[in-house]
Amino acid sequence: TIGILVGASLVAVIPPLAFGFDWSAMFYKALTLLVVASPCALIISTPAAVLSAIGRAARRGVLFKSGASLIDLGNIRAMAFDKTGTLTQGRAQLTDVVPLNGAGEHDLLAMAAAVETGSTHPFAEAIINAARERSIDYEPAVDAVTHAGRGAAGVLPDRRRVVVGNRSMLKRENIAIDELAEETMQGFESQGKTAVLVGVDRVLGVLAITDPPRAAAVDAVAAIHHHGVKSVSMLTGDHERVAHAMAEQLGIDTVKAELLPDQKADAVDDLMRTHKSVATVGDGINDAPALASSTVGIAMGGAGTDVVLETADVVLMADDLSRLPFALQLAKRTNRIIKQNLTFALTVIALLLIGTFLGKIRLPVGVVGHEGSTLLVVLNSLRLLWQK
Ligand code: ADP
Ligand code: MG
Repeated sequence: TIGILVGASLVAVIPPLAFGFDWSAMFYKALTLLVVASPCALIISTPAAVLSAIGRAARRGVLFKSGASLIDLGNIRAMAFDKTGTLTQGRAQLTDVVPLNGAGEHDLLAMAAAVETGSTHPFAEAIINAARERSIDYEPAVDAVTHAGRGAAGVLPDRRRVVVGNRSMLKRENIAIDELAEETMQGFESQGKTAVLVGVDRVLGVLAITDPPRAAAVDAVAAIHHHGVKSVSMLTGDHERVAHAMAEQLGIDTVKAELLPDQKADAVDDLMRTHKSVATVGDGINDAPALASSTVGIAMGGAGTDVVLETADVVLMADDLSRLPFALQLAKRTNRIIKQNLTFALTVIALLLIGTFLGKIRLPVGVVGHEGSTLLVVLNSLRLLWQK
């Protein structure tokens, strides 16, 4: 803009002063130049497309926090998914209760539920619901704490300290996992169920939980591949066997299992090194570091915890995975339309400039060309509002 302002002034002044051209003719030419070369269409090329796309996305429940994340999403090469709550509904069901080492089934569930009252994890909900369904009375544990990616622990009114979680949770609490418990866990894991240990000093039982994938997950992964994303991976705190079983079912390329929250972020860093631009989709507190490390962080809105909604660049408000391919396609189309706009705007300016210098374009034609191209760029961008 500054270049054009200076250029037009020079055209008005230099030729008459230096070469004796006619003042009024050069003044007219300078005005024409000012009109045709003003980069209105060029400048509106990107914001018009981005705003249309953001508006379109919002109407379908996809919230982009910035235009930059929309453009970045269109250039994504790899996508990583959290498993629990993202690829699955997060409406986990408790299927089996296996008491060990002399514990009773009733007591086992009561202990687990008492400790899980402090947790918002889908598994906590499954355990509490199961206790409620069986009309098991329990008093919430005091000082219940949760460890992201591991489990929960707390002290019962009778002073017993109960630990609920995966192998790494029990290891952290120095509770040995005996052979029978390990065998029971592996049995469930080979069926694709997550085995959750309950322990007080020693393992008192194993709970099996299923968390089926969302109905939309298979199609979403296929569509994401179709839109040119080369690598789709699963990052999960769950066990290797359970993760692999689900990945195979959903057509996911690579699996990284048994990850703690910062290991999820490290896994994203690895993906960033290989693929340069990565989108990560998650729902839990434990996913926030991974979302922050990726080019575009995407949160499941309905199931998402506050921290992850805060960290994310994009929120799927409807909590629906089928919106993901839609968002990806919209982002790609936005980038295409921005390129069309820029090419068109620059071409029109170049043609008008040449025409003006050759003396073929008078001011009225210049105005029509300039305003016309700006309108066409805006109209071209508005097409994004009708993206299917
Ligand atoms: P994902 O990465 O798939 O979302 P998480 O990181 O939330 O999974 O959890 C990983 C594992 O940690 C679970 O598979 C479960 O074994 C254990 N875990 C986490 N939170 C809890 C909890 N509140 N109760 C029991 N187990 C839990
Ligand atoms: Mg999760």
